[in-house]
Amino acid sequence: MLETIFTRLEEIYPELVEIRRDFHMYPELSHHEVRTPKKIADYLSQLGIEVRTEVGGRGVVGTLEGGKPGKTIALRADFDALPIQEETNVPYQSTVPGVMHACGHDLHTAALLGVAKVLSEVREHIPGTIKFIHQFAEEATPGGAKPMIEDGCLDGVDLIYGAHVMSTEEFGTVSVKEGYASSAQDDFNIVIYGKGGHGSEPHLTVDPIVTGSQLVVNLQQIVSRRVSPLQAAALTVGSFVSGEANNIIPDKAVIKGTVRTFDEEARSIIEEAIEAVTKSTCTANGAQVEYEYVKDCPSIYNDPNETKYVEEVAKELFGEKNLITGVPMMGSEDFAFYQKEIPGVYFIVGGKNTELHADYPHHHPKFNVDERAIINIGKMFIRLVMGK
Ligand code: MN
Repeated sequence: MLETIFTRLEEIYPELVEIRRDFHMYPELSHHEVRTPKKIADYLSQLGIEVRTEVGGRGVVGTLEGGKPGKTIALRADFDALPIQEETNVPYQSTVPGVMHACGHDLHTAALLGVAKVLSEVREHIPGTIKFIHQFAEEATPGGAKPMIEDGCLDGVDLIYGAHVMSTEEFGTVSVKEGYASSAQDDFNIVIYGKGGHGSEPHLTVDPIVTGSQLVVNLQQIVSRRVSPLQAAALTVGSFVSGEANNIIPDKAVIKGTVRTFDEEARSIIEEAIEAVTKSTCTANGAQVEYEYVKDCPSIYNDPNETKYVEEVAKELFGEKNLITGVPMMGSEDFAFYQKEIPGVYFIVGGKNTELHADYPHHHPKFNVDERAIINIGKMFIRLVMGK
């Protein structure tokens, strides 16, 4: 049975590539997805799958009842894009200025739709029920997982699987880590209020750009000097906005950043240090500051027993040498919220292919992956739900 389904998946691969490229050409930002969820819902409906739209806002959930008894298993794919101007040379480039599928969510969505299609064709052979969770706004804080859960997307679900293609892992590999497998995500927002003035008279101003620049540098010393070298942590300032003209000292600077940790101790050390460094740097420069620290996403927690099963399946499909275990990922993922409710496993499917120039990091303007990862994600999902 499995071989027949896999053959069918290979058969529809060109269609799935087309679907992925279509999403790629028309990317939509988190919480602004309109076309994408509509396409997903239409596709699932045409397969005769029961569809719920606007789940938790913009989510789409398909339910496929199998002909055999079994558990209810959810498969999740995210579908939002990023505020990045695409710089690849692919013929299916983004048509939306400043918006790009630079994390592979277009591919996740195509893979899950492919799984839905081939499984819907053999529904009498499927054990239990499969929920296809198409999630909006994975990249945003707050993301789409929480509101979708609150709106019942996990009701009656026993187990959930999620997958992410990765441009930094070789095509053909699968990575999974038991237990805590991704970093927690916290965000901080800082508004520095200085005193504006003429660029030729800096002594009459309080320069928020200079203050902010010092602050950005000072923040870099928190991970390097406060956190133990044995604890993984990342602190990144991703946005620094201030001023517009050559000769005007502005009165305000806005700095936004993110913190990633695995360990709760490191998490609180960093939280306290950012506040102290921010306040002291601003005070030293005579600037006022508004400061906010938002604890957002917990760590991914992969159920140990289910992780073993995923490892077995990956070995069976791709060979032992292509299974990578025990390596955590530094990105954070709101898939973690599903795992707060029910057991689940989140795994990585390799998409790196240097020959195709598919080896830029995620969120890079030249990001791309080997599209055959659609098949590999599809096979993993199919094999996982078809039973132990
Ligand atoms: Mn992603």
